[in-house]
Amino acid sequence: MAKIQMKTPLVEMDGDEMTRILWAMIKEKLIFPFVDLKTEYYDLGLLHRNATQDKVTVEAAEATKRLGVAVKCATITPNRQRMEEYPELTEMWKSPNATIRAILDGTVFRTPIMIDSIKPAVRSWEKPITIARHAYGDVYKAVEMNNSEPGEATLTFTSESGNVETLSVQSVKGPAVFQAMHNTEVSIRSFARACLNYAVSLRQDLWFSTKDTISKVYDGRFKEIFDEEFEAFKDEFEKQGISYFYTLIDDAVARVIRSKGGFIWACKNYDGDVMSDMVSTAFGSLAMMTSVLVSPDGKFEYEAAHGTVTRHYYRYLKGEKTSTNPVATIFAWSGALKKRGELDGLADLVDFANRLEKACFDTLASGIMTGDLAGLTEPEFNAKAVTSEEFIDAIAERLR
Ligand code: NAP
Ligand code: MG
Repeated sequence: MAKIQMKTPLVEMDGDEMTRILWAMIKEKLIFPFVDLKTEYYDLGLLHRNATQDKVTVEAAEATKRLGVAVKCATITPNRQRMEEYPELTEMWKSPNATIRAILDGTVFRTPIMIDSIKPAVRSWEKPITIARHAYGDVYKAVEMNNSEPGEATLTFTSESGNVETLSVQSVKGPAVFQAMHNTEVSIRSFARACLNYAVSLRQDLWFSTKDTISKVYDGRFKEIFDEEFEAFKDEFEKQGISYFYTLIDDAVARVIRSKGGFIWACKNYDGDVMSDMVSTAFGSLAMMTSVLVSPDGKFEYEAAHGTVTRHYYRYLKGEKTSTNPVATIFAWSGALKKRGELDGLADLVDFANRLEKACFDTLASGIMTGDLAGLTEPEFNAKAVTSEEFIDAIAERLR
């Protein structure tokens, strides 16, 4: 059988622990036999990040800017415990995802992979809901104060040219807490553009919600910027038959619960923090959640939303066969290959990515799945828990 050819390489970012083991298995069994895979390889495994003073992460992000599409394995973000576990670490390196996100100025979109045998907690949901969370500012970069005396808090802005504007926050008669937060127009615009780009890429409606009836200036500015950025996308949205829809956050929550799904929901930083946990839990499993980082100028980095599954890795190191779910990592590969195929006009590659996803769905529908899913499925599906390798072999069999 002739292998499918690629034009432009993918940026491949390898990672850590159990997901690194799955990574190699996925390439060997599900991709190499079918695709003449071209990648620019960057090893983001913790020890190689350490050996390169974390330069490899920056290089991988730069490569994504240059080539446009990346696929990333989960990676360890070192904490104090990891510093003890890996004594050779010279520094508590920053989260690779944070580094890559900052370089690409990107927004993260999380989408659940839905299967027939696991019913979402919300019965009306028939299609996945993708959450886009703004990742800069608001309460996450706020300053706070706790005062015990009566007095007045004010908010002052001093411009570089020397203009001063002061507002009274509140005069209080006793102990009180205060908070001041900000966002930048540049960041809000990037967020809006990334969301609009991704809606076009998925051919799905885009929803955006804030509380601009109460926060007329702050949230009001978010709404205006989204409206302004949408102007440049209007024709493309119309051509694709998709829409941009703004509503208040409380109305959005009610509509999301009553909806059938199948759209992107853009949320401010805090709303996105809360709502992404709500939506992902209601869809069923963290192991079935994909994640895409999209830059405002349309560069894409695909990965699984879960981490390196450390507990399974320690069992693997003892020689045990684990039943770690590879589906989200497989979908990171299929997502990246599909996007690469679309950009390079390679119908074969797009078709392969779709068949890879279908092979996963068919395998799961036949009842063959990893342990985490077997525990969640409806009884009539007669789920059989197998090891990761047996599961990947079953997918490869269908793919062939
Ligand atoms: P985790 O790797 O997502 O795993 C937490 C638990 O969730 C696992 O112990 C497992 O539960 C279950 N789980 C997650 N993914 C699964 C899968 N594919 N198949 C089966 N079960 C799965 O989170 P963590 O243990 O908090 O973090 C481990 C490391 O990952 C950390 O060093 C962290 O820095 C890193 N991390 C990386 C990323 C990223 O690169 N995007 C994201 C998050 C965390 P059971 O043990 O009960 O089976
Ligand atoms: Mg959270």
